[in-house]
Amino acid sequence: MSFIKLKNVSKFYYNKKTISTGFSRISLDIDMGEFVVFTGESGSGKSTLLNVISGLDSYEEGEMYINGEETSHYTEVDYENYRRKYIGNIFQNFNLVNSYTVYQNIELVLLLNGYKRRECREKVLEVIKTVGLTKYKNTKASKLSGGQKQRVAIARALAKDTPVIVADEPTGNLDVKSAKSIMKLLKDISKEKLVVIVTHNYEQVEEYATRKISMNDGHIIEDKKIDSYEPVEPKLVKYEDLTWFNKIRLGMRNSFNIKTKFVLLFFVYFFLTFLVFSEYSGLSKMTYEEALEGYNDYFREQDPERVILTKKDKSVFTEEEVKSLENVENVKRVEKEDLLLDSWGSVYNDSIFFQGKFRSWRELDRVDMGRKPENDDEVVVTEGIFSYYVDTYGEEIFKKVYDIDSLGKVKISGIKILKEEEYTNFDDTVIYVSDAIMEKIKISLNVNYNKLSLKMNNKTYKNDGYDMYFTLKSNANVPDGKAFVPSNFNMYCSYYQCLNKKIEVGVQNLYYEDSIPLTVRKVFNKDNFKNVTGLTNYEQDSNTIFISENDYKNLFLKGNYQVSVFIDDLKIGDSTVEQIRAMGFETFYIKDSLANPSKEAMGILRIFRNVVFIIATVALFFISYFIIKIILKSRNVYFSTIRILGSTKKISKQLLNIELFVDINIAYLVFLALVLFATSGVVNMEYINDLVTYFTLKDYVAVYVILILMSMLISNRYAKKLFKDSAMNTYREEV
Ligand code: ADP
Ligand code: MG
Repeated sequence: MSFIKLKNVSKFYYNKKTISTGFSRISLDIDMGEFVVFTGESGSGKSTLLNVISGLDSYEEGEMYINGEETSHYTEVDYENYRRKYIGNIFQNFNLVNSYTVYQNIELVLLLNGYKRRECREKVLEVIKTVGLTKYKNTKASKLSGGQKQRVAIARALAKDTPVIVADEPTGNLDVKSAKSIMKLLKDISKEKLVVIVTHNYEQVEEYATRKISMNDGHIIEDKKIDSYEPVEPKLVKYEDLTWFNKIRLGMRNSFNIKTKFVLLFFVYFFLTFLVFSEYSGLSKMTYEEALEGYNDYFREQDPERVILTKKDKSVFTEEEVKSLENVENVKRVEKEDLLLDSWGSVYNDSIFFQGKFRSWRELDRVDMGRKPENDDEVVVTEGIFSYYVDTYGEEIFKKVYDIDSLGKVKISGIKILKEEEYTNFDDTVIYVSDAIMEKIKISLNVNYNKLSLKMNNKTYKNDGYDMYFTLKSNANVPDGKAFVPSNFNMYCSYYQCLNKKIEVGVQNLYYEDSIPLTVRKVFNKDNFKNVTGLTNYEQDSNTIFISENDYKNLFLKGNYQVSVFIDDLKIGDSTVEQIRAMGFETFYIKDSLANPSKEAMGILRIFRNVVFIIATVALFFISYFIIKIILKSRNVYFSTIRILGSTKKISKQLLNIELFVDINIAYLVFLALVLFATSGVVNMEYINDLVTYFTLKDYVAVYVILILMSMLISNRYAKKLFKDSAMNTYREEV
């Protein structure tokens, strides 16, 4: 049985309008061990026939058998396998990778067939010796003469050690002397192999040929036996896929070994990185700035740095937990008395009235009039830009006595006049107080965050202003377990008399419910108010139930169920909040709760911005693809060469992927280095600095992922184009 058998095989070329014939209705049997020479004029169909035989091209009619197997149903993958198993090609124009050394060119074919690096070395050196190029093993192919190049090509076919060697005009580009030695070399390696050679110079091979086939106009006109030959069994070569290690090696080699290509790609990727950064930076900057604008009605303290925390189980924060929060990176401080941050009150007398958030003296940075406070009963107040009281009363302000809510009497020691930028809204005014007053505020404040209820005469009243209205205060005159109630509550008690009756006060808030049984010790009215409570302003407390300080603390000061954390660097605030969340706390980031005055408009703007970002990214992709395609044009020869040498589509794509991946990573790293230099002030690059102001780690990763995806899409597209045609057509287009 012959190894290759053709039965009425025809090959046509379909161009846009015309169909031309490569060869038609050829029947032929070729045996292992033969040295077949095809000869004939140019255009007679020799190359076409050779390409069909070596599986580089398909045929249209008839049937070709390989080792007895029909091939008309062969897919591209079947042909790939056939070529890898059986065929070693030698071309007229050598088909070497010019940027590789002699060694690398030969190694390439072995690597593509799954050899390990170690296995390659000996074999490569051996075949280099066989073709007499040991001296040139580290010379780049581009520096070799034509004869030497063809020797490399032969060495390559030799290394692959396939049973069939196919050579199309191997001496066509060589001088007579080189041609002679190449032919001799081919004869030497033809033992135990089938050699098929195309030449229009038959005399050169006459002495080696065992068979001469002459062609004319796509037909065989002569098929003559010249010499006898020894039939041999086809010896199959081992072939596997390129190993991953070698893929990476080759990909890296390809990244660097053509310097101009490397530099060009580097610049394209560098600018791509830069542009994606710029775009992305614009986007994150806008998002960031937008989040800081706005207003929220629920919290007085609307510092965007503030994050309110609660525990998942709604329990009290322990000291350890507060410590662990203080240790979180980018946390400036932890405010345990979270509710105090939102406290609000006033300092007033008959004619003067200041109000603001209560803050500790320690937070006071300056006074613009008067002096800093010295005694516990001194406070500093703030005035906005319209300083009515300051203008009207001047220094008089410091001489008067004021009420501070219903907490006691204070003096004003100084005034801080808020500058325009310090006074953006009503909530920016502050009353700076001593720790002693702060403690009182803290105690009184809690009641506002609770729903109170009152049980009198076996009936429970909700304190909703509908059932009833009252407040609860502590008073030093009240003994534990007792209560002072206003006389207007008598109507709820049996026999309209509350004195000595049992009542029960209930509290309920987000975190707990509690109640306390009390006996009414005193009932007060306008007349005995001062006597009973020691306070002066009856009007303010006509609905107040006074209990002892201890009872009050037991009801309300159970610990901090809520704390606030202040973020140091807002730009990376989101990731800090993420981190705190991961520690198991519930978070409420004030920045995220601020309502923007024109939320709708902002929403539309945001969508618009994202669309612009996507469009710009897609545009960038196509622009860079276009440029990279031009740069990669020089790689077409390489990829069609490795395809002919046995690389599959998948592997070629992976190799290109690695090649581009290396480039893009270098570009990205160089860019990061630049960013590092700019942000650390080693070099002065304002623009770069601004670019990354709002970047968090997440953003760097996002840009990186975008770049890698782009690069993969580019190599996918490229590989698709490269492989859409048969190996030979692709190669022909390139050479
Ligand atoms: P040879 O190798 O003997 O010089 P070829 O096999 O290259 O001849 O060409 C045989 C015929 O096929 C010629 O008529 C040539 O014009 C045609 N041919 C070869 N390649 C193509 C192609 N890619 N497209 C169209 N026609 C082709
Ligand atoms: Mg030809």
